[in-house]
Amino acid sequence: TESASRPSMSFDGSARRIEDNRRFMPGGVNSNFRLGISPTPLVFERAEGPYLYDVDGNRLIDYYLGMGPMILGHSPAALRKAVHDQIDKGILFAGQSDLETRAAQLVCELVPCAGKMRFGSSGSEVVQAAIRLARASTGRTTILKFEGHYHGWFDNILWSTAPALNAAGPEDSPVPVAGSAGQLPEAAHGVEVLVWNDLAALERRLARGDVAGVIMEAAMCNAGAIHPARGYLEGARAACTRHGTVLIFDEVITGFRLAAGGAQETFGVTPDLATFGKAIANGFPVAAIAGRADLLDLFATGGVVHGGTYNGQCISMAATVATLESLTPDLYAAIDKRGRRLMQGIAASLDRAGIRAVVTGFPGIFHVGFGLEAPARHYRDLTRLDRPAYIAFTTALLRRGVRALERGAWFLSVEHDDAVIDATLAAVDDAAREVAK
Ligand code: PLP
Repeated sequence: TESASRPSMSFDGSARRIEDNRRFMPGGVNSNFRLGISPTPLVFERAEGPYLYDVDGNRLIDYYLGMGPMILGHSPAALRKAVHDQIDKGILFAGQSDLETRAAQLVCELVPCAGKMRFGSSGSEVVQAAIRLARASTGRTTILKFEGHYHGWFDNILWSTAPALNAAGPEDSPVPVAGSAGQLPEAAHGVEVLVWNDLAALERRLARGDVAGVIMEAAMCNAGAIHPARGYLEGARAACTRHGTVLIFDEVITGFRLAAGGAQETFGVTPDLATFGKAIANGFPVAAIAGRADLLDLFATGGVVHGGTYNGQCISMAATVATLESLTPDLYAAIDKRGRRLMQGIAASLDRAGIRAVVTGFPGIFHVGFGLEAPARHYRDLTRLDRPAYIAFTTALLRRGVRALERGAWFLSVEHDDAVIDATLAAVDDAAREVAK
């Protein structure tokens, strides 16, 4: 488009508003993950399809997509209609609705592990439900998690995560690193951290027979897009079965994005439990825990508590049904084709500009890693990323009308058509040459 070749966009209106916002909100923003954006956190007026429109009058091609949810793009017509229709009928019943049944049925049809499921409102929250089920069903305490895998911001699981940007201890026995000030140190009791993609290490730990659950992003997407090593998920599945440990896939990013059935469908490995959020409702606050019926039934008959005022809220359920009914094979084929072209085009531009980088992941969620010579195998490899150089690149892109996350992830929607990909690649080529100078 016209904006791609001109590095001229100004964001002064956003900067002024963020400054003013500080009167009401810490840092002028409502999430820590919106802090420190170069040149400023942005303030938007509206969004449609692949585009965001900010208060400075800029139209930006959006690869944040709400941090992942908007697989149908911004404000798709089917979802708008479903939500408009529902708002006339009711918002919150504190009881069941047929809409909820339909949404649950769709999740159970699409997701391989979903014998049964429950809805929640955020990924962080349903992760807590999964941890509780793992402990209740096994009578054990220990949850294993992996360095760099993010499972929400609560005390008991925010250990050695991407926001902390660090890893500690030797690779074969990592030390949990707190992700936040104010985190209860005792909350590390009951969680152990391992390096991901090392099957022997996982098998050794599980063999002690005292682990309640293993939680992982089946394809690591929050900190960087890393594929599971060949045989790793299968091996983890077998070892968990062998030792009576509950295998949990956190599919908050990968769910309904890598495929309608998530990473578990893509890789053909079925966990005992899985958590979902983001793309399940294309921007509405919906999450789900799904899995083996006997485990989910512990909420009904096993004394395991799971609640939430907004679980199954009508507007969110209308959005869930409209989203899940839109997830056709054609949608994934389109994202697959365009995403591959985008990944290859970015890699080619960076190569031409002499920038050392790798582009890894999946067409619908990939990662551009500046400074890496080879695809990362686990989080420790990502500590070698050249983050300042990448931020210079995303800032140069933003001035050309392309908004990509500064931590390297790119999300794609079905609304990013070939013309949008072309405009993006023109901006990428230009920005790469500018930052390589
Ligand atoms: N799990 C993963 C893999 C995520 O990427 C996220 C959020 O980015 C969460 C859990 C937490 O979800 P929420 O932000 O909805 O609480």
